[in-house]
Amino acid sequence: MNAELIFVGTELLLGNIVNTNGAYLAERLAAIGVDSYYQTVVGDNAERLMSVLKIAFDRSDVVILSGGLGPTQDDITKETVAEYFHKELLLDEEIKADIAAYFKKRGREMAENNIKQAMIPVGAKALKNANGTAPGVLIEEGGKVAILLPGPPSELKPLFAEQVEPFLKAKSGSILYSVLVKVCGISESKIAEQLDDLIQMQGKVTVAPYAKLGEVHLRVTAKGNDEKEAKKAVKPIVKEIKSRLGSAVYTTHEEVTLEQAVVDLLLANKLTVTTVESCTGGLIAGRLINVSGVSEVFKSGFVTYSNKAKKRIVGVKKLTLQKYGAVSTETVLEMARGAAIYSKADVAVAVSGIAGPDGGTAEKPVGLVYIGCCVCGEVTVREYHFSGNREKVRQSTVTEALILMRDCILKNYAEKTFKKE
Ligand code: ATP
Ligand code: MG
Repeated sequence: MNAELIFVGTELLLGNIVNTNGAYLAERLAAIGVDSYYQTVVGDNAERLMSVLKIAFDRSDVVILSGGLGPTQDDITKETVAEYFHKELLLDEEIKADIAAYFKKRGREMAENNIKQAMIPVGAKALKNANGTAPGVLIEEGGKVAILLPGPPSELKPLFAEQVEPFLKAKSGSILYSVLVKVCGISESKIAEQLDDLIQMQGKVTVAPYAKLGEVHLRVTAKGNDEKEAKKAVKPIVKEIKSRLGSAVYTTHEEVTLEQAVVDLLLANKLTVTTVESCTGGLIAGRLINVSGVSEVFKSGFVTYSNKAKKRIVGVKKLTLQKYGAVSTETVLEMARGAAIYSKADVAVAVSGIAGPDGGTAEKPVGLVYIGCCVCGEVTVREYHFSGNREKVRQSTVTEALILMRDCILKNYAEKTFKKE
């Protein structure tokens, strides 16, 4: 079974809005194993939509449309699809009552033109929309399926996840099972080298790498007749990847982020942590505080942007700053050690760098960053050369700081690391 996507909206065509529904739907279809070979964007024009529909149904079993289900005259998706299937539109009293209730709950009166949204093609199924007024519509006829979804992502996503995905899964017969192996601290090319045979594998199981900032994610996927069969095929491959990449694999749980993995490590080893940041200005603390439950391990952090603050708040020596500069191994080492002492934390991470666009010199160019990590008094400092603009340099620094923390904790507390995996 394959599915094709059509996005309706002149705003999309003009580039006024970004087609995020496209990325979402494409990703979800891939995740549930429905092949999708085409996507089209078309304006709010019935004639052109009709021609796109004809092309789509000639080559695809399922056509999913997004947008154009609103109450106004330029919302023509439902009317055009109904015409394609030669179906009349009839008022659905239940949907009309839902829309009226939606307005009442918000203390508003339902407008006359909202009745248009309660008109459903004969024989079609209305998909209730709890987050807006336009219901989705599902038409199944002659081996073809049309699925109409409202344009706003806050309405489309839950409607798709709750009502369309189960339908497509049941219809496709086969299921797809995948595990996401998240790796940090090794480059994508190095991983490709080490896993070459697995990535090239042609068969039931596929291994697909995706590079993220400072991380690489490997999606291991298998198709099967049922979940048990697909799981069984995926398991040995995940095991093999873990054995080849070792501790660079920080999780095989989709929902676990790098910061979560670091916080879990701290919790497992009963360690507290602090941050002292210059060029990242609190972003590392922010990433750690993304994790719920972090209060167990994170009590306070410092932003020491100026030299004065570095001296006064975490005790960097005047001489160190004079001799080596704020962006140096020596300063970052003292920052990390000082932060650990002042906040009485077991682990302290420190960063100082040149994020740009100004401030670089031949000797210390933009992108030069030092990251230090102190674990129980022992400090490791590494030098990094990041590329990109200020934003990218700062984000790269945050990710590498988390990776360095993880490395340093693992070095000292290896035994408790993979308890959870
Ligand atoms: P409404 O009832 O709000 O009119 P609709 O189903 O008619 O919903 P559209 O009018 O096509 O949908 O789009 C409404 C809004 O939804 C757009 O202004 C835009 O913000 C968002 N939207 C529409 N299509 C997309 C898309 N493909 N990706 C992301 N956002 C979209
Ligand atoms: Mg609209």
